[in-house]
Amino acid sequence: MREVICIICPKGCHLKIEENASAESGYTVSGATCERGIEYGINEVTNPVRVLTSTVKVEGADLIRCPVRTDGSVPKGKIFECMDQINDVTLHAPVKVGDVVIEDIAGTGVALIATRDVEAM
Ligand code: SF4
Repeated sequence: MREVICIICPKGCHLKIEENASAESGYTVSGATCERGIEYGINEVTNPVRVLTSTVKVEGADLIRCPVRTDGSVPKGKIFECMDQINDVTLHAPVKVGDVVIEDIAGTGVALIATRDVEAM
């Protein structure tokens, strides 16, 4: 049995996920007050994913780092590989919100994008 807090909405329901061979998904989720929580609970034990936020180096600007995030969820098991790629990137100002920083981070099919404008010096 796994216990997790649902992070889909601010309510933060406490979920308990138990294996159940007779359930279609193979699991029973208790503590969820909506369907999205049930789906989240099952994903947490089968294929946990996260939207990753971080910063990358930027040159030619007053700011030395630019905030970034993935534009979708990446598997938790790929997060260290993603961070290695993020640490290797250097942007050159100007940067615009939504600029693609890495097209396919760690082979996940998900892009890394800038989340703020950075003006050139
Ligand atoms: S189970 Fe539903 S209501 Fe509860 S935190 Fe998750 S999304 Fe929100």
